Amino acid sequence: MRRRILAGNWKMNGDREEAMSLATEISGMVKDEYLGDSKIVLFPPFVHIHSIARLLEHSRISIGGQNCAAADSGAFTGEVSAKMLASCGAQYVIIGHSERRSYFNESSSDLTAKIMQALKAGLQVIYCVGETLEQREQTEHFNLVASQLRECLFHLSKDQWGHVVVAYEPVWAIGTGLTASPAQAQEMHAFIRQTIADHMGHELASEVSILYGGSCNESNATELFVLKDVDGGLIGGASLKSRSFVNILKQL
Ligand code: PEP
Repeated sequence: MRRRILAGNWKMNGDREEAMSLATEISGMVKDEYLGDSKIVLFPPFVHIHSIARLLEHSRISIGGQNCAAADSGAFTGEVSAKMLASCGAQYVIIGHSERRSYFNESSSDLTAKIMQALKAGLQVIYCVGETLEQREQTEHFNLVASQLRECLFHLSKDQWGHVVVAYEPVWAIGTGLTASPAQAQEMHAFIRQTIADHMGHELASEVSILYGGSCNESNATELFVLKDVDGGLIGGASLKSRSFVNILKQL
């Protein structure tokens, strides 16, 4: 179902005390100040998921993992399976974040296996796509994003698509302070929806939520969130400050 979503990707930030305080502050502000009906999802580091899921059990905020293993279980030292995440209270998982693709060399076949594990565990997948600056300058960005969609998502059934959200995150905008202009964001979001429609049909494409991520903050959120094909945001840096995150939420 297409809905408006604000997701906070905390990355590798916050010890236990800091993570619990951030979650407590966000949930308090949401309760006191937020009247909208957008879905709110926080992505803490793995080790905090269980505690934060319990802390927010009776709130309207969901929790997710920033990654999951491509395998079910076994001798994969350091890995965390989708099933483990679900058993700790996670309802979502981010797959294919550009930091995972570039620093951990995650390929399309790794990501496809992760998506299948996540869906099998009953998690909602936020699948990230996006081009580097070089790819954009060479006008390769549409081809690249189409191949990221095709290689990992177009084998899914219509039912499985009901558990997938796409996040467009231009690599050149992540953590850099550079944001896609509203025209660039809308152009790519419309392209993503059309590419999904070409393979899966218009009805399904019109039901997929497509989030924007990349230096989204309190000052630029509104101009991105009003765009026709932008259904919310995946927020990195600005999600580490409760006030900023909730102020962004209020613009959705
Ligand atoms: C991200 O890493 O998903 C992200 C969007 O980061 P930032 O908001 O810091 O650019």
